Amino acid sequence: MFEIIRIPAFKDNYIWLLRKGASAVVVDPGDARPVLEVLERDGLSLTAILVTHHHADHQGGVANLLAHYPAQVFGPAMESITAITQPLRGGETICLESLGVDFQVLAVPGHTSGHLAYYGSGVLFCGDTLFAAGCGRVFEGTPAQMHASLSRLAALPDQTAVYCAHEYTEANLRFALTVEPGNRLLRQRVDEVAVARAKGWATVPSALVLEKATNPFLRCSEPEIVASAQSRVAQTSGALAVFTVLREWKNGF
Ligand code: ZN
Ligand code: FE
Repeated sequence: MFEIIRIPAFKDNYIWLLRKGASAVVVDPGDARPVLEVLERDGLSLTAILVTHHHADHQGGVANLLAHYPAQVFGPAMESITAITQPLRGGETICLESLGVDFQVLAVPGHTSGHLAYYGSGVLFCGDTLFAAGCGRVFEGTPAQMHASLSRLAALPDQTAVYCAHEYTEANLRFALTVEPGNRLLRQRVDEVAVARAKGWATVPSALVLEKATNPFLRCSEPEIVASAQSRVAQTSGALAVFTVLREWKNGF
């Protein structure tokens, strides 16, 4: 198995570095500098870069990393990202030989139209699609696409470790609690996250089973959440309509 190292970047991004022996693979390097520091500190050589989508905070460091290491670059074929050597559309299985692992590539459009997630060995790298206790904004796709993408991720095994790209958990939980105040597990998570953040700890990764129990965007059929959506938009019915109301609501929350 490989080890996963969290590299904080910018204000609230996480870049994930996967290492085995002296080899490293990095996911969504928005900034090269902190990645180069870890590679040099630990004497690692970068063999591959996985990109989930084209936003600068996820791929802005690729060119600079390639100036130091001849790495393969996996990323969405549909988006304009220079330097991709292995364009992907979802449905592929990619083999990261240096880590001895295969990842499934999942198309998860919504935040952007080509957004990809990578899943293997019980870990999921989902960029800005699924967040701890929340989900990404729908910038390029439709609410229906985002809802379908989240449903696809929610169908992965319960124990999947969810490595998203931002530390947004505390703010997401404030919204979640507004939408579903009667959820006991959610209240417990709010308390745990408050303690963790007060100590400066990260709240990512989370477990998919916890997301399914507390993330409102994965719970659009729960009666309390449906009722909350209906308090915003009367007669909202159906999971997609509820999701659409929640996403709009959260945008202005
Ligand atoms: Zn993004
Ligand atoms: Fe982002």
